[in-house]
Amino acid sequence: MKIAVLPGDGIGTEIVAEAIKVLEALDLPFEMETALVGGAAYEAHGHPLPPATLKLAQEADAILFGAVGDWKFDKLERALRPEQAILGLRKHLGLFANFRPAICYEQLVGASSLKPELISGLDILIIRELTGDIYFGQPRGRRTSPDGNFPGAEEAFDTMRYTRPEIERIAHVAFQAARKRSRRVTSVDKANVLETFQFWKDVVTEVGKDYPDVALDHMYVDNAAMQLVRAPKKFDVVVTGNMFGDILSDEAAMLTGSIGMLPSASLNAKNQGLYEPSHGSAPDIAGKGLANPLATILSAAMMLRFSLNQPAAADRIESAVKAVLAQGLRTPDIHSEGTTKVGTMQMGDAVVKALG
Ligand code: NAD
Repeated sequence: MKIAVLPGDGIGTEIVAEAIKVLEALDLPFEMETALVGGAAYEAHGHPLPPATLKLAQEADAILFGAVGDWKFDKLERALRPEQAILGLRKHLGLFANFRPAICYEQLVGASSLKPELISGLDILIIRELTGDIYFGQPRGRRTSPDGNFPGAEEAFDTMRYTRPEIERIAHVAFQAARKRSRRVTSVDKANVLETFQFWKDVVTEVGKDYPDVALDHMYVDNAAMQLVRAPKKFDVVVTGNMFGDILSDEAAMLTGSIGMLPSASLNAKNQGLYEPSHGSAPDIAGKGLANPLATILSAAMMLRFSLNQPAAADRIESAVKAVLAQGLRTPDIHSEGTTKVGTMQMGDAVVKALG
């Protein structure tokens, strides 16, 4: 089992170090190799995703990714910015399915901005299509408007599009994921207005016929945004396109209180995956030992489950995380009165100890 370790920038190096500690404590036959990515790679090699890093990622069974980015790179041309490394990895590895679980740990119910009764026991999975939609559709650009409300005016445009195979494969991923949970899928669209999403709805419905044991319902994205804060526990698996998924997965993430707790996985058709916390490189707290490593540690658990076929080891990590929370240990982002404040390394050490 080969893991490419790409810590990246800012808190990336600190939190990935803790996840590696946890992986090593499992005593499984991993081969781990580290490479630079993002701003660190740009500074060393002049590109955020150097060929050697890409090759390592392509040859690995899974990639453990920290975070990339720093404000000091904001002035670089777009193609050289740290964030391009993630887009490049998604594209080159064909990572089309993004999994974002939003789980509310009982001990952190108070950290949510919603009432405890709304989120206590929350466990939803947002599956976002990651390589299509308006983010990648061509043509796009700026031009003189040929028609519309202001013909002759300067305008910018993007193209929303999805092919049948793109929708089919993400729908299969969602139905199969639902089979391992409570067999419910909500497909989110905007079929009332957009041709692309009427097609999305039709194709998801067709694929659903292969899964008679899974209940499928459809919801418009505006309603889904509302229901996520009104009654989030009504959802189980949510599947949607790239743009709606981008927005809804961040909304769902915040239901649980802290971004420092949220893992994510992006998978391709071969189950090769990139595993990373949902947050960024947090330059404001980098190097201070304050970052919460749990999202990265939980991403490592997802990696064991989805790409490395080690579900028992994944369970061990997830139980250990619950145990340290039950012990009252908290990094500053989730700290509250009556709990014990710890730093990044102490949190990682506590998880290792709780592995049993
Ligand atoms: P961010 O997620 O890095 O930080 C937002 C806030 O959350 C900050 O106050 C930060 O301190 C806090 N935070 C984030 N992770 C935390 C953790 N593990 N523990 C405790 N607190 C945590 O978002 P941002 O500040 O908007 O962006 C910073 C940089 O990260 C930018 O360069 C951005 O482009 C990049 N970014 C990268 C990724 C990625 O690598 N996948 C994702 C988002 C943003």
